[in-house]
Amino acid sequence: MSDLNFSDPKSAELYQLEKLNHILSIAVQAPFYKRLYQNIELPLKSLYELKKLPVIDKQTLCTEGETCKKNLYTSSGEGFYTFSTGGTSGRMSFARYSLDEFHEVCFGAAYGLTACGITPNDLVANCIRAGAFWTGFLTSYRALEMIGCNILPITDNQPVEKTLEYLELMRPNTLFGISPTLVQIAQEATRRGVNLDIEKVAFASTPLTTEQESYLSAVWPKATFHSAGYGAAEVGPIGFQCEHCTGTEHHIALSDCIVEQDDDGAIIATSLIRVLQPAIRMKIGDNIEWMGGECPCGRTSPRFKLLQRSDEIIEFEYDSMSLEQIGSCIGNFKELAPVFQVRLDLNGKDTDIIIRIEAADGDAVDDYQLTSRIYECLCKDIPAVGTNRSKNNIRAFKILVVPSGGIQRVETTGKIRRVIDKRFM
Ligand SMILES: [Zn+2]
Repeated sequence: MSDLNFSDPKSAELYQLEKLNHILSIAVQAPFYKRLYQNIELPLKSLYELKKLPVIDKQTLCTEGETCKKNLYTSSGEGFYTFSTGGTSGRMSFARYSLDEFHEVCFGAAYGLTACGITPNDLVANCIRAGAFWTGFLTSYRALEMIGCNILPITDNQPVEKTLEYLELMRPNTLFGISPTLVQIAQEATRRGVNLDIEKVAFASTPLTTEQESYLSAVWPKATFHSAGYGAAEVGPIGFQCEHCTGTEHHIALSDCIVEQDDDGAIIATSLIRVLQPAIRMKIGDNIEWMGGECPCGRTSPRFKLLQRSDEIIEFEYDSMSLEQIGSCIGNFKELAPVFQVRLDLNGKDTDIIIRIEAADGDAVDDYQLTSRIYECLCKDIPAVGTNRSKNNIRAFKILVVPSGGIQRVETTGKIRRVIDKRFM
């Protein structure tokens, strides 16, 4: 098959429609989809008719999956992987991929990494955490293998001190990890005065924030940044970044996914890979904005920008505060790493806020003056905790600078829950 992402829109649509109808014809063998589509005429005559199918949110699938798992499977299946789709939400839910489907997922990830500049010549340290039903390490190692890279399977399963020892020993030119891991490696390298001479930083899971990218650039000035793309454990690859995509811009991965946007701006994704446990018109929980114009890379696949997630905006009585605001304020302090967590507690009718921020080096931890400067900066830049604090019923607002790695990681992935909101629990 030629590269669908370069083809004319008509051929791409025909390819997607054919693959979709194939999946739908099998999907109705699963009791859940059989019931869901009982009044819908299949096959669909155009991609536009996809709108006739109901949108499925994660919640529906979770409930369905837990109470009667078999309802979602199109066959009892021989040869499959079971992956966790729980992510940072804390609740375990699972998705089943056949071995062939998982091969395609990895191929999609390899396509994305190649499109944004990872080559067979790279010596890549794979620092993604392994195990615990997470797709992360398995997908990345197979994707790197498909590209033909030289691979160091280091993982993030050991303390950062040990990871740095391995890196010093092997001298990779490319580091691959999720953002909190990459920042922690950079901090540890700085602390110990180790020059790793990194040329490429590849990241998975969530895009690097502006502050994270500039932090890593300061430690590794030669480094360029490369994304493994955007996807969801329950859908597979959704978008990829070419060398011209910046921030949260992505091309749709046309051979793997159909992307729609609902009236509220939310992304709805249909996997063109998953047949054993289809994922059709799934609401992922992210909002997108379409991008116009042509991409200089020559690909015709449409581009979208991921917008700030709704859980990245913290609402109060009167106005709100975003993680982006906090991040950009923290970016002003070279003593701090771009890694933080906001905790909200209810105290009677009032809210108490604690922001934990990791220090770039140990000296910052007990620096009272630094803490008050951060406090002042946040109050000045963010009206919700500054001028509007009393209107928002905010009682205490506290900054804690903690050592590198001092914010608790999600054990299975190494990710950080950026907001812990105990107000509604
Ligand atoms: Zn492009």
